[in-house]
Amino acid sequence: MSSATINATDIHLAKLEARILGVRVHGISRALAVAWIDAWLASRARAQVVTVNPEILMRARRDPDYGELLERTRLNLPDGAGIVAAARLRRLSMPERVTGVDLVDDLAGLAAVHGYRLLLAGAAPGVADQAAAELQRRYPGLIPPATMVGRSGPDGDAEAQAVIQETRPHIVLAAYGAPAQEFWIDRNLRDLAPVVGIGVGGTLDYLAGRIPRAPAPLRRIGLEWAYRLARQPWRWRRMRALPAFARLAILEALGLKIGVR
Ligand code: UDP
Repeated sequence: MSSATINATDIHLAKLEARILGVRVHGISRALAVAWIDAWLASRARAQVVTVNPEILMRARRDPDYGELLERTRLNLPDGAGIVAAARLRRLSMPERVTGVDLVDDLAGLAAVHGYRLLLAGAAPGVADQAAAELQRRYPGLIPPATMVGRSGPDGDAEAQAVIQETRPHIVLAAYGAPAQEFWIDRNLRDLAPVVGIGVGGTLDYLAGRIPRAPAPLRRIGLEWAYRLARQPWRWRRMRALPAFARLAILEALGLKIGVR
């Protein structure tokens, strides 16, 4: 595949771009996101993918560096019922929620077929190894993923780059929590191709069986956040952003001026 493919995907993606409270999010399905990532890898491109939930979006509004980073990423996926609801309130096209957990599962399947190498970085010691074993159990053809714990800040970059150079991954899943994982990808994968870097938050914890995922019916009605709050009450501090997000999204849908950042 040529650079024409890359340009074609970017032009198509630009058309799917929505602005939710001023932050860039693509209205794209899970299947198309996986197809684009496959096309980028096949054409030896690099890309950073962010799974945008309301907490990330609110963070991007108040942190100019993070907001600017989200302008430069190739794909910002709608991860969060609130993001999809906010888009639909304004009749913007947003076909479905695309979560990190689902995306990683699809990409592991893709990697098993095409021989892409995975690097799982971050999370508590042992978690990435367990997550890698789970992905291999699901997709027996998968090349055993490389793993590292590392550190999320710039003081961990030398180690990260050494591991990346040694393992030469195609897909890097960074689990350092937002926004650290997005900055980590931006710093450490900037000049590498073909590499797709994705911040995956708690996905490795789910894969490793350390935290259960909310039951499907709760996810369907947009209450995954409530389940996570019940299991991990310390999340309340982060979730304080959610009522403000809902209020602003409604104001935006009503056409009221809310200030872009
Ligand atoms: N984490 C880490 N180093 C850090 C901060 C977080 O490895 O300095 C890991 C943490 O162990 C977890 C992931 O980053 O595996 C972030 O998960 P969280 O539940 O915060 O992300 P969310 O799914 O809410 O985006």
